[in-house]
Amino acid sequence: MSGPGAETATHCPYCALQCGMRLRPTEASGPGAVPVEVTERPDFPVNRGALCGKGRSAPALLARGVRLTGPLVRDRPGGPLRAAGWDEALDRVAAGVRTARERHGADAVGVFGGGGLTNEKAYQLGKFARVVLGTANIDYNGRFCMSSAAAAHRRAFGLDRGLPFPLADVPHTGCLILVGANPADTMPPALRYFRELRENGGTLIVVDPRRTRTAEQADLHLQPRPGTDLALALGLLHLVIADGLVDEAFVAARTTGYERARAAAMAHWPDRVERITGIQVSQLRRAAELFGHAATGMVLTARGPEQQSKGTDTVGAWIDLCLATGNAGRPYAGYGCLTGQGNGQGGREHGQKADQLPGYRSIEDPAARAHVAAVWGVDPDALPRAGRSAYELLDGLGGPDGARALLVMGSNPVVSAPNAAHVTARLRTLDLLVVADLVLSETARLADVVLPVTQWAEEDGTTTNLEGRVILRRRAVDPPEGVRGELWLLGELARRLGVERGFPADAEQVFDELRRASAGGAADYSGISYRRIAAEDGVFWPCPDPAHPGTPRLFLDRFATPDGRARFAAVTHRPAGEEPDREYPLYLTTGRVLAQYQSGAQTRRVAELNAAAPGPFVELHPRLAERLGVADGDPVAVVSRRGRAVAPARVSAAIRPDTVFMPFHWPGAGRANSLTNPALDPVSRMPEFKTCAVRVERAVAGEPADLAERAHRAERAERAAAPGHTADERAAG
Ligand code: SF4
Repeated sequence: MSGPGAETATHCPYCALQCGMRLRPTEASGPGAVPVEVTERPDFPVNRGALCGKGRSAPALLARGVRLTGPLVRDRPGGPLRAAGWDEALDRVAAGVRTARERHGADAVGVFGGGGLTNEKAYQLGKFARVVLGTANIDYNGRFCMSSAAAAHRRAFGLDRGLPFPLADVPHTGCLILVGANPADTMPPALRYFRELRENGGTLIVVDPRRTRTAEQADLHLQPRPGTDLALALGLLHLVIADGLVDEAFVAARTTGYERARAAAMAHWPDRVERITGIQVSQLRRAAELFGHAATGMVLTARGPEQQSKGTDTVGAWIDLCLATGNAGRPYAGYGCLTGQGNGQGGREHGQKADQLPGYRSIEDPAARAHVAAVWGVDPDALPRAGRSAYELLDGLGGPDGARALLVMGSNPVVSAPNAAHVTARLRTLDLLVVADLVLSETARLADVVLPVTQWAEEDGTTTNLEGRVILRRRAVDPPEGVRGELWLLGELARRLGVERGFPADAEQVFDELRRASAGGAADYSGISYRRIAAEDGVFWPCPDPAHPGTPRLFLDRFATPDGRARFAAVTHRPAGEEPDREYPLYLTTGRVLAQYQSGAQTRRVAELNAAAPGPFVELHPRLAERLGVADGDPVAVVSRRGRAVAPARVSAAIRPDTVFMPFHWPGAGRANSLTNPALDPVSRMPEFKTCAVRVERAVAGEPADLAERAHRAERAERAAAPGHTADERAAG
């Protein structure tokens, strides 16, 4: 802040919309005081002042009663965490890293990052892994989030940016298909764009197994079986071709591979697609007509079609529909992905992914290695090769070839990873688990060393929103005395591990190096500066020099492939990794609710959000509920081949009768990811969160009390007992 009482223009810490907001100092004082309040920032173009409850309540996490305020260490396995100083904690980490390396080699130290980290932190974490640790084993939770869309983007267009156009273009398209996206719950301020689209005469089609609040606003809602979006896209392409709605001139001038895609689509005739998806032929025809006849069309996907073991091909099929109808590389048309996490876009561009270096460069590309090594002042041959993807990294922990020490930064895999009980067991086998977080998350509770870090309002840094717009978060308040930034702690660890230079704590300094490292890469930030971002309300990448205006719209002249043409994927439908059978006759699909965010590590600590969404539930259709003899609110158990979860039934005709839904924000007995299937997409290595086979049964007598309640009580007691926590939490426990 520039003076007493001054407001700071910044952005929300949560989702990829990165809404603009202002922070105004409060008069509050005392141990649990919240130092700032959120006010609107109508001049920021993406959300124009609108915020959801998560953003409005975000300052609650700045209060001392809620967050960690000093490092914690555990003296022996199974022992309690106790308070420690920074030197002791960092010395312990450095010693553990050295031991793991000496005994098992450099790859025995793993790093697990997060899609919520700023660009500077993601960049520095990748550099730290490669230069200081020398490990190939770094990946991040964004692999769970949108890596299939990224892979499909690169395959089709030669470049991955979630939206190739600003959100402001959406109201001007003729027909929009939203696939597996529920912005009414995940990013409510974005709904305005879809409303405006309809006010302008455009049509909105929503594809979702549930009749969500987003689907309620659609002109047409298609409700497929989970895991069948690929067949649906091919069925629509089939009808578009059969009805003569292909844009032949566009296909000839700007694409390759159409004939193979055409052959694949023609094998997915309407009756067959109805059998696979459960969507009636009449509805398929209506959707194909609306999209095929529109002057311009867009398809936006989110986690629904992406979090599948065939997610890359599924997104590829939707892109093929766009390409065949000429809806790409021209105004108000195209395919895009609605990124989920706060820095889901930037987090995947600057080197915390197992196979990438900054600027979206491949770690296996000799020229890329040489460029980045020169910026880092190291020998290119010293840089590790590609490491394991996120689930493979977690699955291997403590095993013969797996990491023995792990640094987790900005992630909570105990709740958010698939097959979470197995992942938790692997985390327990580590010789050293280090977690840097702002709260004592479920993963931090397993750690040997917990490092308390600054949060959004306490630091400067950039993120890149779902449009590819690089924006600036500004420090509004000082962090508590015992809290440090991740950039600082990476520098301190580097120094302890023998690297004295190259890890500054100042975010702008790191960003300036990131600019050089990204120069000439696909995600070129070299023309972007803090000053420009502040002056221009964000700058769209690529922006290769300071005089360049940035690139709000991609591909208008050519696609980023070697020949400048977009590539059809030409894919065919295949079943999910696990389909319902006699023993597990239902589909489970998972997702988010309005008042919680991701693993809930932050939002579950905000009273008003918890009041709105206090716990997990199992949404099931009235017909299924009747068959099971279950009433609304009754405890039910959902069982998969990997585990069991217990939560109250929420009976609703909004969901398919063959499908149940659970939100994934909660740990303990109601943890949805105890059930999910880690089947991986062969290209993106994305796990199949969105569909697995389950059965639902009435919970055995006392089960929810024994499991859910016990887990809840244990969580509160453990949190209250941990050093660094406050009287508030102790009292609550
Ligand atoms: S929509 Fe997303 S970015 Fe906007 S206030 Fe809500 S959580 Fe924050």
